[in-house]
Amino acid sequence: MTLIALNADVLVTMDAQRREIRDGALVADGPAVQWVGATAELPPQYRRMVDDGTAQVLDMRGRVVMPGLVNTHHHMYQSLTRAVPAAQDAELFSWLTNLYMLWSHLTPEMIHVSTQTAMAELMLSGCTTTSDHLYLYPNGARLDDSIAAAQQMGMRFHAARGSMSLGRSKGGLPPDAVVEEEEAILRDSLRLIQQYHDSARHSMLRVVLAPCSPFSVTRELMRESAVLARAHGVSLHTHLAENDNDVAFSREKFGLTPAQYAESLGWVGPDVWHAHCVKLDAEGIALFARTGTGVAHCPCSNMRLASGIAPVRTMRDAGVPVGLGVDGSASNDGAHMLGEARQALLLQRVGHGPAAMGAREALEIATLGGARVLGRDDIGALAPGMSADFVAFDMSGVGYAGAGHDPVAALVFCTPTDVSTSVINGRVVVRDGHLLTADLPRVLTRHRELARTLFERAAGH
Ligand SMILES: [Zn+2]
Repeated sequence: MTLIALNADVLVTMDAQRREIRDGALVADGPAVQWVGATAELPPQYRRMVDDGTAQVLDMRGRVVMPGLVNTHHHMYQSLTRAVPAAQDAELFSWLTNLYMLWSHLTPEMIHVSTQTAMAELMLSGCTTTSDHLYLYPNGARLDDSIAAAQQMGMRFHAARGSMSLGRSKGGLPPDAVVEEEEAILRDSLRLIQQYHDSARHSMLRVVLAPCSPFSVTRELMRESAVLARAHGVSLHTHLAENDNDVAFSREKFGLTPAQYAESLGWVGPDVWHAHCVKLDAEGIALFARTGTGVAHCPCSNMRLASGIAPVRTMRDAGVPVGLGVDGSASNDGAHMLGEARQALLLQRVGHGPAAMGAREALEIATLGGARVLGRDDIGALAPGMSADFVAFDMSGVGYAGAGHDPVAALVFCTPTDVSTSVINGRVVVRDGHLLTADLPRVLTRHRELARTLFERAAGH
């Protein structure tokens, strides 16, 4: 059925002219946008469908409609381990050490239900496409567990097959109990690509290869993952230059900066994106710009772990593709995509003054920026031929009171709210603020039980 959204106070297109259409309308047919413009200019064939009830109509009065936000970095299983007391006040390496043992008790059901929960939170906060970086597979867990959850939730998904192979006995950071054999990692990576990866336009599911970080895998696995990914046209993702200790590890172990290390392994190019890059140096920024290597900027996580202020202004000016990531729920305990855009703006201003980032640039990074980082030209903007992924924010609540002068900027400057409507791939997944693709109270009840079970098992009960 054709979907027609009408009467939006403002329709933010993020198209080539960055048009913001007053009293905007949008027509979608199947997975794709067919038409975008002012409601008064709706073509007669669509006007007839509205009048005779043959189209599904969404009245967007009082709302700002914009392209769905794109989340480029997450570890959804961590929604089971939010606000863990022992990991509340740590920096990256000691934070990880405190959590690895807990995570070693994860089960397939925990992966599934935590992914549903994390996706519900993202969808309600305006996100329509997300990546997830799963790098622990204890007790029979598989990436298939998160893929199944994404299919139930109806989210556009880039499933990153993470991995760790360098246990503590081999000089890595994670305990040996949570690492895998490299041969098994590569075999499973190939299986996942063959079973699930869809490279078509409007694809709802892509597979990504994603060894976890320089301090948890070998150089051989990084190189072989890149070879495998390129043989099958899938993207590569990992963590890089997250904080000073991370840079020190790279210099000490490899005699290279993180950027040099990535380049030496073939981990640069438009098919690669790195999370964080808080400490990417000038040479690294130039390299990323030259090669089109992407960055997932995670401002809340960087603040939570006191990692620093990523040089986003400099990266953007140099031409580095930058998207936003909420990061895992254990280092950003609130995974709100619109909130993340707000923090991106605020953090650049803390570091570089009030002109460092504007509201519209923050929204552009959260939409078009993320799309480019994930290697997609079919999401991030609303125009004919683009995927029908859009969200609506109701501007009538107290949080936006008095912000009618510029409702688009208000989305970033005011306290972030949840969406009233979300459409993914032409399908309404949130209506009147309610998620339609899951029984959320039931999912959350099970999620609470599983979080408790995880802690009890880790405590040896
Ligand atoms: Zn991460």
